Amino acid sequence: MRLLGQLIVTMMPVTPRFFVQWVAKRYVAGSDMDSAIRLMREMSEEGACFTVDVLGEEINSMDEAGFFIEEYSRLIDSIAENELDANISIKPTAFGLLIEPESALENIERLLRKAAEHDMFVRLDMEDHRVTESTIEVCQVMHDKGLTNIGVVLQGRLFRTLSDVSRVCDSTGEQTDFRICKGIYLEPENIAHTSYRGIVDATNDAIDAMLDSGAYTAIASHDDPVISHALASLRKRGMGPDVPDPRYHEEPLRSAGKGAGYEFQFLLGVRGDVRRKLSEKGHRTRVYVPYGTKWYEYSMRRLRENPEVAIHVTKALLMPWTNRR
Ligand code: FAD
Repeated sequence: MRLLGQLIVTMMPVTPRFFVQWVAKRYVAGSDMDSAIRLMREMSEEGACFTVDVLGEEINSMDEAGFFIEEYSRLIDSIAENELDANISIKPTAFGLLIEPESALENIERLLRKAAEHDMFVRLDMEDHRVTESTIEVCQVMHDKGLTNIGVVLQGRLFRTLSDVSRVCDSTGEQTDFRICKGIYLEPENIAHTSYRGIVDATNDAIDAMLDSGAYTAIASHDDPVISHALASLRKRGMGPDVPDPRYHEEPLRSAGKGAGYEFQFLLGVRGDVRRKLSEKGHRTRVYVPYGTKWYEYSMRRLRENPEVAIHVTKALLMPWTNRR
């Protein structure tokens, strides 16, 4: 299967751009903010809430960070004006984390303060292993400044993740808010699980550790063995739809836009049928909505980073009944 994925990836540079755009339409809200707002308005009727990502990643000069600060600021205003149940997801390298970490911190703080004015949460997406530690540090520094409307993503595939769960919980306490996913980057085998089973088991262990720590846990996976494990783990802990979070907390937890201690998250365009079923059962379900002009670069990078994505995309196109938007 991986070979097929690699073959598709090799063909991508010679694939006509219009075809890539046609495929990407399923996974990207559009090239501008209005498309994202329109899409979220429509999807709100399905009981979904959202986290919005402005497409674009690692920048090459600090000047480029200005675009992301401006665009995300307008986005925060627009989400608030349209009274959407949405927050934002940002990539620290788009704010300069790999160029000038101090300036990146200032940029992120500015945005976080703006989001806090609207009681809005900000998720730091997790990128590859070069920035795992520094991304976690950004979150800790902001919490130390009293800005608690921020949380990180941890990747189940990394060996370090269980220890990161306890370290982050120790430093950000009861306001800890995680997204847990398998991790899209194919990391080297000295730092990460590389087999499917190893990644699933490690992700499930991380979900349990997060739930046991009392942290808010956003489960971001479309994979049945992860979703069923999460559902069983929630049941075991007396957590679920219409049940207030039964875990002991000294302080009142952030409630704006949040579920009862957990939520499920899906990428736009992926396994909408599973998401709608969870939502109908009363689970809080959030859709990750990317938009922006950089849809081509985004699609190509995702495919290069993990050729298995190419297989999922091909299957979704050729066998649409297996994977509804
Ligand atoms: P898989 O086994 O990959 O997928 C299970 C099934 O879902 C597949 O069989 C297929 O039917 C379907 N599927 C999955 N992906 C696709 C696709 N692209 N197109 C069509 N069908 C698909 N990773 C990071 O490294 N950092 C992050 O910050 C991050 N944030 C994320 C946020 C959200 C909301 C989600 C859902 C994922 C995020 N990821 C992130 C990606 C994640 O780490 C995985 O790479 C991705 O979700 C695929 O793993 P899976 O658990 O869905 O299982």
